[in-house]
Amino acid sequence: MTEQKDLLQHQAILQRDKETYALVPHLPGGITDTNTLRKIADIADKYGCQAVKVTSAQRIALVGIKEEDVENFWSDLNLPKGHAIGKVVRSVKICPGTTFCKRGRQDSVSIGLMLDKKYHGMELPNKTKIGVSGCANNCAENAIKDIGLMGTPKGFNITVGGCAGGRARLAELLFTDKTSEEALTIVDKIIEVYKGAAKGGQRIGFFIEKVGLENFKKCIEAAEKDLSKLIKELKEHNV
Ligand code: SF4
Repeated sequence: MTEQKDLLQHQAILQRDKETYALVPHLPGGITDTNTLRKIADIADKYGCQAVKVTSAQRIALVGIKEEDVENFWSDLNLPKGHAIGKVVRSVKICPGTTFCKRGRQDSVSIGLMLDKKYHGMELPNKTKIGVSGCANNCAENAIKDIGLMGTPKGFNITVGGCAGGRARLAELLFTDKTSEEALTIVDKIIEVYKGAAKGGQRIGFFIEKVGLENFKKCIEAAEKDLSKLIKELKEHNV
């Protein structure tokens, strides 16, 4: 008998019964509308979904779908798949920021959705989670995100290296009060350096522990023309 596993190509997560799967449509930032929710509910009923679970990644997991129904489920639902498994950018958690929240200092929704569009599902050395919060309350849990943007009265503070899991790690502050454009460029560089110099299976925080936060920061601040040389040096440090 073949052992049942997650179905990576369908983003189908094997459940405890070892027979059925959870499917998780992508709802960027957890922001959706009533028509989409109705559609999800209708398709969930059609395929005999056993439970509906709101996830910590701001998605809705539909639990208990049979393997033979997985492909039809996705084609009927016609929504993007949430990347909930694999060594990819899993989620960009976005707080309501200045779009909805009275405490918001910065527009976390706009910048978060831009990051989601660009990075969700991108293959990297290990799973990567991004959090974007509109103020110091950090409702997107920046402290345990691989990359975090936090709104301040002057811009965004940027943190790296947080994660939860078996060996939890608090994120470290990399830059303060950056504009949205600067913050987006910095995230691009973080991803480029991580992708170029980390080993397979290494989360950003543990990669930074190996190469040193200051060396990592130097790389992020470097001019584009010097980057590949610096990435090569970081790779040599990462043993
Ligand atoms: S982090 Fe700040 S802006 Fe975002 S939801 Fe929390 S309190 Fe509101």
